[in-house]
Amino acid sequence: MREESERPLEISSEQTVREHVFHEITRSICPQCRRVVDAQVLVRDGAVVLRKRCPDHGWHEGLVSSDAEWHLDSLRYNKPGAIPYDFSTAVQEGCPRDCGLCPEHQQHTCIGVIEITSRCNLGCPTCFADSGMQHPDGSYDLTLSQVGAILDRLVETEGHPEVVQISGGEPTMHPQLLDILAMARERPISHVMLNTNGLRLASDPDLARELARYRPLIYLQFDGLRASTHEALRGRDLSEIKAQALERLAEAGLYTILVPTVVQGINDDEIGDILRHGLAHPTVVGVSYQPATFAGRCIGSQDPLDRVTLPDVLHALEEQTAGLFQVSDFFPVPCPHPSCSACTYAFIDGDQVTPIPRILNVDDYLDFVSNRSTPDLSAELEPVVEALWSMAAAMGSDETTDDLVCATCGLEVPTSLDPSHLKEHFFAIQVHGFMDEHTFDVKRAMKCCVHQLLPDGRAIPLCAYNNLGYREEVRKMLGSEQLLQPKSAEVMP
Ligand code: SF4
Ligand code: SF4
Ligand code: SF4
Repeated sequence: MREESERPLEISSEQTVREHVFHEITRSICPQCRRVVDAQVLVRDGAVVLRKRCPDHGWHEGLVSSDAEWHLDSLRYNKPGAIPYDFSTAVQEGCPRDCGLCPEHQQHTCIGVIEITSRCNLGCPTCFADSGMQHPDGSYDLTLSQVGAILDRLVETEGHPEVVQISGGEPTMHPQLLDILAMARERPISHVMLNTNGLRLASDPDLARELARYRPLIYLQFDGLRASTHEALRGRDLSEIKAQALERLAEAGLYTILVPTVVQGINDDEIGDILRHGLAHPTVVGVSYQPATFAGRCIGSQDPLDRVTLPDVLHALEEQTAGLFQVSDFFPVPCPHPSCSACTYAFIDGDQVTPIPRILNVDDYLDFVSNRSTPDLSAELEPVVEALWSMAAAMGSDETTDDLVCATCGLEVPTSLDPSHLKEHFFAIQVHGFMDEHTFDVKRAMKCCVHQLLPDGRAIPLCAYNNLGYREEVRKMLGSEQLLQPKSAEVMP
């Protein structure tokens, strides 16, 4: 002991300093065998890296965030989760092997995703659902009774669920899509969203009108304006098809969010152009950027340390729009883990674009960790800002429009504004940084509020579903028409 205490405090000339700052320890998975392993979160060269070691496959590193400052600051925006009315699995093996939701899960379902089919009319080179190509486990369409069971279970666990997102595969391939939308609308679910690649909207002149009866918010795959972008990500030039789909959606009065998958070196230089395209189109009320992950099929650099991350999109928006939107206009979304997503809103009047955080101090309302005692927060605005910076906010809905009107009350809204087109004067920009096997972090999965809903009653955090083998397990069973049996009653303690 004495010897130890007498050692000089200085680092001896032979010792070297690590090239990173150790931030914290978490758990992740081995990208080769998916064993759950300890992982270190390190800050290195201004970026955040996840480093882990599998006893069988050695060390692996993945880039989590290219901007350590954004990432570390985002941790202030972490609000307490809501507890669902029921859980569907028990705690047995420990997170993330008990999905779910198991009683350890830290957030309820903001968005319940139902993949109603595994089929697709495209076979994109990049697809985390691995859809649209011959699959060894076959393909499936959920039956109406399976969808009904999913929706009923969601109502049981949530009471009044916020959002159901109908997805796939390509959901417009499902022969009973309209019945499924009607079933969702018959239940006390606030918002229904529909993901689509737009092919059927473009080719079927009646589809948008038929969909409009159920008022879904459309999430339209939209990766860019260049033919080469479509060819790289989707296998062929879809520019005309996307334009046609947007026309049909506009004619039917359906509000649309453009959803670009962003791949380094393919379309990361189109981030600003996509936004401008959306701002100029009357039916588009937002853009939701998704940096590509290495789950399912993927293209581009497969180097997990060299990729587009959430803050890259924010910086690109600032650079490529000449400051129309700045990084400082964005705030993390606090209902999931705050590293998962960021968003902002703007008021649009002709060429005038006013990001809402420039007229309202959003930070005061969203800094849940250090700011809760701020004395002069407006009691009226607090729930409004929380509802807007939520995964469940639905552009084009009456509720979100009311919140946006409230949030912009400091703005002089021109009296000439036509109230029947008010919804088209607001615009959302979201960035959702999904995880893959390189970046998978258990603490983010535990706070996830975007859940894959299954016919057996389970709700599985989407990043866990895509990376831990749940997707493969479910596809195998549904593809071979095996029933997924409800688990809730028998496994709960
Ligand atoms: S991610 Fe959530 S539901 Fe899944 S095992 Fe962990 S705590 Fe349970
Ligand atoms: S990314 Fe979408 S459109 Fe492309 S194959 Fe997958 S499900 Fe189909
Ligand atoms: S789906 Fe993934 S990135 Fe999105 S909130 Fe859930 S854990 Fe986070």
